[in-house]
Amino acid sequence: MEQVKGSPFLREWLGGPLPSADSIGRISNLIEPDTVREANRALYSQLKRNKAIVAPWHGLMALVVDGHESSASYLRCCEGCLRREIRTTAGTRTQYYHRTVSAMLLAEDLEILLDFEPQRPGEDEVATAIRLLTQVLSAFPRAFDVVLADALYADPRFFSFLVSHGKDVLTVLKENQPGLLQEARTLSDLVEATEISAGPKKIECWDMEGFTPWPEIKKSFRVVRTRERSTITRQLDQKPEEQVSEWFWLTTLKPPQANSKAMVELGHSRWDIENRGFNELVNEWDADHVYRHQPTAILVFLLLCALMFNLFHAFWARNLKPALKEKVTMRHVARTMLEELYAGVVPPLARPP
Ligand SMILES: [Zn+2]
Repeated sequence: MEQVKGSPFLREWLGGPLPSADSIGRISNLIEPDTVREANRALYSQLKRNKAIVAPWHGLMALVVDGHESSASYLRCCEGCLRREIRTTAGTRTQYYHRTVSAMLLAEDLEILLDFEPQRPGEDEVATAIRLLTQVLSAFPRAFDVVLADALYADPRFFSFLVSHGKDVLTVLKENQPGLLQEARTLSDLVEATEISAGPKKIECWDMEGFTPWPEIKKSFRVVRTRERSTITRQLDQKPEEQVSEWFWLTTLKPPQANSKAMVELGHSRWDIENRGFNELVNEWDADHVYRHQPTAILVFLLLCALMFNLFHAFWARNLKPALKEKVTMRHVARTMLEELYAGVVPPLARPP
């Protein structure tokens, strides 16, 4: 930001000079994060009013909840740091790091980051996610129908919290719930598989109901198992190779709300997010870079990043004409915006003699 300090565009747009990078860092730690959350909520409401948020074909709005780690260090720490012991050749060392749980809404062709919440020392990720969801449910009560999460969240606290708030849940089912996984495996051997077509993939699907893994939750669960085959061309010798992957999903969604095909799509969209949503935040927006190592500053930067991510993606998805998007990449559009910031800033490079 220091480099675009002299930008005529920025000066005019802000109505004054840009603060120094140092001031931005110092002030970020003093900002009340809820004020940035409020700005993001206002953006969401405007998009909603403009009918820019549309549900996918199955009609369900999904919210992906996921934890991400940042800024692992042996040297620097703050009062918000989590710590763990790492065994090295030089003995055991304490490593400091931050972990943040994010909530991202999946609309048709548009992902919207609703909120972030840092994991606190002494609590686990599920507890952080429940605090995050309490905030999200209060700020965006009708924004989503179902919460998607990985196997870590196949936890009675998580399901019970969401069921009591009238929301459905879909998580991956893995070895961390061995009894339930075994029961689903055994039962699927007795049930006929159905075939689902999803592009070039061949998917066999076992859709089973009536699981009651946690007596404290008065609701029966559904497990969907899939075996997915796709053919890829091997890079080495260009020969086709069949790849098989197997998935188990645990959900409160009933078949009339989401048929097997919708279940498979919802389940996989959680990985789309991992590949597009958060990867993009890290690789293109430097969202995991710690500009100021203080807990409030870290959260405020993430929330500001969410605001920019949402604005940019809403612009790309809903403002630009499809014909233009066929010709230019998203990165090209970003560079065009950057060009405006840099216009009139960079001193002309000295010409070689
Ligand atoms: Zn820290």
